Amino acid sequence: MSEEKKKKHVPPPRPKNDSLKADPHPGTHVGRLIAVVSGKGGVGKSSVTAMSAVWARRQGYQTAILDADVTGPSMPRMFGLSYADLRADEEGNMHPAETVTGIKVMSMNLMMKQEDAPVIWRGPVISGVLKQFWSEVVWGNVDYMFVDMPPGTGDVPLTVFQSLPVDGIIVVTTPQDLVSMIVGKAVGMARLMNVPILGMIENMSYVTCPHCGEPIYLFGQGRAEAIAEREGVPLIARIPMDPALTAACDNGQAEYAECAFLDGLADILPPLS
Ligand code: ADP
Repeated sequence: MSEEKKKKHVPPPRPKNDSLKADPHPGTHVGRLIAVVSGKGGVGKSSVTAMSAVWARRQGYQTAILDADVTGPSMPRMFGLSYADLRADEEGNMHPAETVTGIKVMSMNLMMKQEDAPVIWRGPVISGVLKQFWSEVVWGNVDYMFVDMPPGTGDVPLTVFQSLPVDGIIVVTTPQDLVSMIVGKAVGMARLMNVPILGMIENMSYVTCPHCGEPIYLFGQGRAEAIAEREGVPLIARIPMDPALTAACDNGQAEYAECAFLDGLADILPPLS
């Protein structure tokens, strides 16, 4: 999308109907809350959430991640965090775990001693836990909090949109994903909930030729632009398929990975008030 179009995109203000909103803990002060969504699983939504937080932290912002993917939590693994990193104070308040560079993280897997123990709960229980992550955890001062949403348009995304003061969403897709109507569903849900759509990120967009460095668009080029145009939202970034990123995210090293491909976030993140 052209520079001119990017600048013209002004997300609408936060909706006025706040009756279902959950209050944060008095010790929590969050500047902006950004939800990262996808139409389906496996497109790299969690990796993009993690790398967005890494990017924001590198810009000097106080940054946090609320892992709302309660049944498939991957944030602790990406940052090398575990049960032992969660803290409680003398009054019994829970504090998020902190990564090496100071990104605050709250996730269901930080509450489980065994990383691969399944969470087999019905939607309302999961939604309750999520509200507790927001209301009962002492997050302290945070400039940007990123919420890793579960994929799709089910119960938990609905809870997040209704209970948390989401300032906007970022939609993650892959080139294969774009041919379907699935991106449209995720975007449509946000629109129905009056949540501003900040932009789209195309993940696994291309591979870089190891010999000449040229991008190879395995699934075709230009679809992301077309969808972004159709939905009237900016295309924030195109992320290549990179084995170094897989290794970093899957081995607790997300903080040390390259993330300049997300520089477009600077244009769309709502300013701090
Ligand atoms: P989702 O949250 O959408 O289910 P994940 O972020 O867990 O997806 O990503 C699924 C897998 O793909 C992970 O192993 C992750 O490391 C890998 N992955 C995601 N994005 C990329 C990328 N751009 N290049 C290489 N591997 C990636």
